[in-house]
Amino acid sequence: ESRDGYAPQKPETLAAYLSGIENVRRILGGPPDQWSIMEVGDGNLNLVFIVKGPVGGVAVKQALPYVRLVGESWPLPLSRAHYEHMALSEQARLTGALVPKIHHYDEALALIVMELLEPHIIMRRGMIGGVEYPRFAADISTFMARTLYFTSDLALAADRKKALIAAFAGNTALCKITEDLIFTDPYRVAALNRWTSPQLDAYAARWRQDGDLKVAVSRLKLKFLSSAEAMLHGDLHTGSVMLTPEDTRVIDPEFAFMGPMGFDVGAIVANFLLNFFAQDGHEKDSGERDPYRGWVLATLEQIIDQFRAKFLELWRENPTGDAYPASLFEGVDGAARLEIERQAYMDRLWTDTVGFAAAKMIRRILGLAHNIDLEWIEDKDRRATCEARALTLARDMMVNAARYPTIRSVTDAARRMR
Ligand code: ADP
Ligand code: MG
Ligand code: MG
Ligand code: MG
Repeated sequence: ESRDGYAPQKPETLAAYLSGIENVRRILGGPPDQWSIMEVGDGNLNLVFIVKGPVGGVAVKQALPYVRLVGESWPLPLSRAHYEHMALSEQARLTGALVPKIHHYDEALALIVMELLEPHIIMRRGMIGGVEYPRFAADISTFMARTLYFTSDLALAADRKKALIAAFAGNTALCKITEDLIFTDPYRVAALNRWTSPQLDAYAARWRQDGDLKVAVSRLKLKFLSSAEAMLHGDLHTGSVMLTPEDTRVIDPEFAFMGPMGFDVGAIVANFLLNFFAQDGHEKDSGERDPYRGWVLATLEQIIDQFRAKFLELWRENPTGDAYPASLFEGVDGAARLEIERQAYMDRLWTDTVGFAAAKMIRRILGLAHNIDLEWIEDKDRRATCEARALTLARDMMVNAARYPTIRSVTDAARRMR
């Protein structure tokens, strides 16, 4: 144990620790020697334990003082558990049961005890297996609309908004990972980059010479650095969703900070498009996954349409923020003018979304952290074909975002690419 009380947990130490927490003891039931504890963390950064007792179970997530994927040579502050806990609490307040319930939080141990999600699986795995999730579009559009709207200047008074910025401002190390790995490294020679080689060598080289692309990604990076629009989840990919066909939960908000809304929405768009392009690598007979491909793109369209409708509805019904003061938009004419501006706001948010989605697609193919949607395609030629299509669409989305004014223009382009 370190001086300040932190020690990474092992199953034995964790049982003793949890037995001292009254409500957790009650959830698990029985004496601690009847609890089973398994470390299941499959993420890049942290430890996750599943604990089961005679009565019930919990999940325990603990930050490590380094990046799990890389090792102790890459230190990362334990404070990310603090930001994860804070974001999870805000998301619970704003969305209710769309996040796991928190049972206990220990700042010194950088440890969160939360609801065990069971029989939920990680969405990415379900989508690789071709599983349809009929509730997902409704749930994720609600999650994004409510968390983004209610933490923005459209809903908050300026002092409360600034307090939220202050509360998340210290999560700099996690933001820096995004700034480097998403917005910078795929466009330069970087030790941690990797790609399907030699098939994509020419793409990687071309990316480093592409001035238009490097300007476009740098504009997105500037927006990520400087636009504190709303509380973001910050890592909203399909590996941060656990679900069943009946129930959706968003997990893992340790990258939360006040940033541009399009970054979260773009993460969902990117992961759906990557899964769409990956389906070729997962079908045994050509065309076998056509119905699933159709579901992926139709669902993506529903997500974006519903997000827009729900966000606008929240804005019309809760115009409580200091932006767009009501006194400037009085009467029938004022109301009409404000409604036009609401639509224009959503169009700007969509343009940001297209760019951020593209950045997230590219980093998963040319950067450090890849998606199993593509990584699990064993035949490298086949995988590279899927990846090249995704890269080609992503480059055009990033450089020519204005050519993609609607989600349908994106999904149509994806359909045409294969
Ligand atoms: P990381 O930040 O390291 O990516 P995650 O929060 O994504 O950690 O969790 C890693 C894995 O642990 C998830 O992919 C999932 O399999 C499992 N997990 C996380 N939270 C829960 C939970 N509440 N219930 C069940 N399993 C969970
Ligand atoms: Mg994770
Ligand atoms: Mg992860
Ligand atoms: Mg994480």
